[in-house]
Amino acid sequence: MHDRSFACLYIAFHETTSHKHLKKRQQDCLQPEIVYIRIEVSMKRRLLVIVFTIIGVLTVLQGNDQKKAVDDFYFDRLEMVRGQIAARGIKDSSVLNAMKKVPRHELVPIESRDKAYEDHPLPIGHGQTISQPYIVALMTELLDLEPDDRVLEVGTGSGYQAAVLGEIVKEVITCEIIGSLAIRAKDDLIRLGYQNVKVHHSDGYWGYKKGAPYDAIIVTAAPGYIPPPLLQQLKPGGSMVIPVGKSGRTQSLILVKKDMDGNSTTEDIMPVRFVPFTRD
Ligand code: SAH
Repeated sequence: MHDRSFACLYIAFHETTSHKHLKKRQQDCLQPEIVYIRIEVSMKRRLLVIVFTIIGVLTVLQGNDQKKAVDDFYFDRLEMVRGQIAARGIKDSSVLNAMKKVPRHELVPIESRDKAYEDHPLPIGHGQTISQPYIVALMTELLDLEPDDRVLEVGTGSGYQAAVLGEIVKEVITCEIIGSLAIRAKDDLIRLGYQNVKVHHSDGYWGYKKGAPYDAIIVTAAPGYIPPPLLQQLKPGGSMVIPVGKSGRTQSLILVKKDMDGNSTTEDIMPVRFVPFTRD
């Protein structure tokens, strides 16, 4: 008897039988009530499995669609990080990961999208450029950032450098002197979800006093000398990276470090070419 009821339970759970077929099984088992209950459970389960499978398939399909929309350039981005950035000696994993994430193609003019991950700067309008990916990586790595840092950028431009910083640190304040670029970058960064990046339309020569002092400062246009307000707004122990030199010529990328006593030292990193630092 025990063996028979066990056999019935086994049938109900493991066979996807038609009603007629189950009826026959019930007679064979001599314990129709038990089998019937089990059949009900089994049918409900099957229905649930079917419903959840449909929901699952739809969710995966929808997810793939969304991924595809943001990830059309995913492999270009990985190749950019591998071939242009890691290959040239950038090691900081937070920088490499940030640059694998930020959709650079979303921050360049639409007609330049296909070139967004190439190894050179690109025009972004108003005579300005988005920096070459390697230079963005190098300057970011030089700042030696921590997740809790607050960073000031002077020269928002496209917003790309600010987004890379925003992936790494707690808060980014960025100033742009050209109003329409500031508005566009602000809109783009909001659209892409960078809530920790604040764009200001202002002359970055004066830094941004309200948010000072900063753990790090990055300047992406070339002044003839280091603006004193920027040095003042750098925290003791902080770093600033800035291209310094005459516009239209090669400038020096300078790393400034402020020690805990407030004294600064500078290191000449390499020759670079940036757009001019302008004044209101
Ligand atoms: N970091 C930018 C690079 C933009 S190019 C990016 O990722 O795209 C440098 C930008 O600095 C230009 O948009 C230029 O208008 C801006 N700039 C020049 N002088 C400035 C100043 N005094 N204050 C703020 N922005 C300035």
